[in-house]
Amino acid sequence: MNNSVYSNDISEVVEADRAHLWHHLIQHKPFETSDPRVIIEGKGMRVWDAKGNELLDAVSGGVWTVNVGYGRESIAKAVYDQLIKVNYFANSAGSIPGSIFAKKLIEKMPGMSRVYYTNSGSEANEKAFKMIRQIAHKRYGGKKHKILYRDRDYHGATIATMSAGGQDERNAQYGPFVPGFVKVPHCLEYRKQWDVENYGERAADAIEEVILREGPDTVGALCLEPVTAGGGVITPPQGYWERVQEICKKYDILLHIDEVVCGVGRTGTWFGYQHFGIKPDFVTMAKGVASGYAAIACMVTTEEVFNMFKDDSSDPMNYFRDISTFGGCTAGPAAAIENMRIIEDEGLLENTIKMGERTMNNLRALMEKHRVIGDVRGKGLFCGAELVADRQTKEPVDEKKVQAVVAECGAQGVIIGATNRSLPGFNNTLCLSPALIATADDIDQITGAIDKALTKVFS
Ligand code: PLP
Repeated sequence: MNNSVYSNDISEVVEADRAHLWHHLIQHKPFETSDPRVIIEGKGMRVWDAKGNELLDAVSGGVWTVNVGYGRESIAKAVYDQLIKVNYFANSAGSIPGSIFAKKLIEKMPGMSRVYYTNSGSEANEKAFKMIRQIAHKRYGGKKHKILYRDRDYHGATIATMSAGGQDERNAQYGPFVPGFVKVPHCLEYRKQWDVENYGERAADAIEEVILREGPDTVGALCLEPVTAGGGVITPPQGYWERVQEICKKYDILLHIDEVVCGVGRTGTWFGYQHFGIKPDFVTMAKGVASGYAAIACMVTTEEVFNMFKDDSSDPMNYFRDISTFGGCTAGPAAAIENMRIIEDEGLLENTIKMGERTMNNLRALMEKHRVIGDVRGKGLFCGAELVADRQTKEPVDEKKVQAVVAECGAQGVIIGATNRSLPGFNNTLCLSPALIATADDIDQITGAIDKALTKVFS
């Protein structure tokens, strides 16, 4: 890449960054002695930083977002064409891309019916929580209002979504949190909590135990990631989801699936829950919806839920009294329509399954070679390798070593991720989520870099 256009200005950019930018999720102290990373260009699977380094991005923009890759002119054009027509009107009125994307999205989600636009994954989850609470008031006099969430899952950075946050380190020092959120155990079989054969069912039964303890007439909803993302790429054990669905039915509990990471192709189906044949009441999504070309998130629900909020003229409060100002931006759905077209026309779901299998095979081969890999997990192009100091005891490796592996991959020109200081003692999983356009060569380069990094850090 020729970055000469930027070279005169780049020291000014870095200076401005140091002086005024507050980066997300990182400690700034190191920037007193080293430069912050500034990404100035992206094309396909690769980005270039201000220093001219070319980097293969194995994490789709850092946080599982750029599903169709960088530099998509057709998405930029779709957004441009829409913005010069009309950029915004509050979503109490409709828009052409807003309506069309809603229709296209629902076509991919049999059983679902209504799309509510918001700006971020956190906000989409908040909308679902608000609806769940309102349903509790409308139907159960406010009693069936508790929302269950799972240990190690993450649903956002706002106070209510953190109240449903299963990653303790992220929550520390931000309480007190919102009442009425109750934790259920995680389902990671590698770190067994029950010594049984049918682990999936047992882990789901643990949810039922919490429901019975709390009182089924107080529990309104269960909110889960289909595959836990930042909590360590936790793929559900066999039988888990089927049992979860049964439990929800049995106790009349709404099922809210957080597809903010898994949604829009990441796991090789349009949505992660579709692997397991379950029927959610709420599905939230964000990152891959427009691959980061515009900010858009959606809360999707059923016609049954939608109908609860209309047709009751005796109650003036009986509608969803909520707005998201930028949920009325037209750039988001315009980008999302084109993003979806690309996934379909380029066969990216099929590619995701194929390349996901290759990633898993490569990781399994690395596990044979490196005793530090205790477990590999994944679904589609969403894979993880958990690092342990001892395979017998499964003691996690020191987090600094995990960061050293990430840094060493970076030095080889490959950006990988890791569970991010959110699980005390368990920040030990390397995370891979390349764009859905990844080729076999890309995958081999990514796992090749991990191979070398593990050798360097652990020998
Ligand atoms: N839900 C999940 C599973 C996530 O991983 C995230 C963010 O990483 C969120 C929700 C929050 O999304 P946002 O950062 O867009 O608010």
